[in-house]
Amino acid sequence: MKTWVKVLLIIVAILVLGGLAVFFLGTVKKGGKVSVLASPTSYPQSASDQTGFEAKKSSSYYTVYYHAGDEANADKTLAVLDKAVGELYQKYLGITPPNTQVYLTQTVDEYVKVADFPGGANNVQVGDGSAPNGKIYLYKPFDDPKKGEGVIVHEGTHAALWSFFGGGQGMEKLPGFLNEGLAYQIEFVYRAGANYDPLKEIYFADLLEKGIKTGEPRLMSLAELAKNCEGYISDEIKNGLCRGQGTYTVWYLVKNYGNDVWAKFLADLKTSGDWQKSLEAVSGKNISQLGQEINEQLKNMVK
Ligand SMILES: [Zn+2]
Repeated sequence: MKTWVKVLLIIVAILVLGGLAVFFLGTVKKGGKVSVLASPTSYPQSASDQTGFEAKKSSSYYTVYYHAGDEANADKTLAVLDKAVGELYQKYLGITPPNTQVYLTQTVDEYVKVADFPGGANNVQVGDGSAPNGKIYLYKPFDDPKKGEGVIVHEGTHAALWSFFGGGQGMEKLPGFLNEGLAYQIEFVYRAGANYDPLKEIYFADLLEKGIKTGEPRLMSLAELAKNCEGYISDEIKNGLCRGQGTYTVWYLVKNYGNDVWAKFLADLKTSGDWQKSLEAVSGKNISQLGQEINEQLKNMVK
């Protein structure tokens, strides 16, 4: 065989093998079967200093505590939260959180105990989470792929707000329906993009539609929402209105006043301590006018 033919054959062989290698690795990556390749970022692991959790991992903004076997989930949790800081919390809330603790629990009982969850074990489902004290508690966040990442980002919002207002007492400045509304807004933007359809994405949107069309349930005014939506709400309709109207209110202001309207509101509220004044400051309207405007738009969307 002539030398140039040999050289040519070798070059062809290298190209074919290289191509196969790239194809194979790409396939493995897409399938997510090999965790080392599937995980975009692997954060360093160390022994945990928290009782009940064997290991921890940290990024700049979060420390995740987890059990043996949950290492890949800890990596995923950090990746989701870090992305939320860069793309959502800073942009929509004007908040860069300090390092925040996150707990990955493995059983309902552990979740209820560690998170001190007021709803009790009967009200916990796979994929649930909460952030009652500035820390984030998650129960098997990736076992329900529909809820998983959105719930993490939602609870991350509550924790970011908590740190922004300097804890429980500071949080009293922010009415519960806006605290929930902001968390859902961020969750839905993460899930469905900035132009998400509120009637499609908002939980309890059907309740809002029914209220607008038939008057039953009667929708609450902004002042009523601020009064009636604190803490854990067991009444289903009331809970639905608080969360549904809260989210629609937040969505409405972003849509009509711009992406940074809530960052401005939060900065103003931190000093004013008066949510009505701060809402007036960013919208140029008093809360009864604003409330009517919000319900008008809802009416137009429903019909
Ligand atoms: Zn929430």
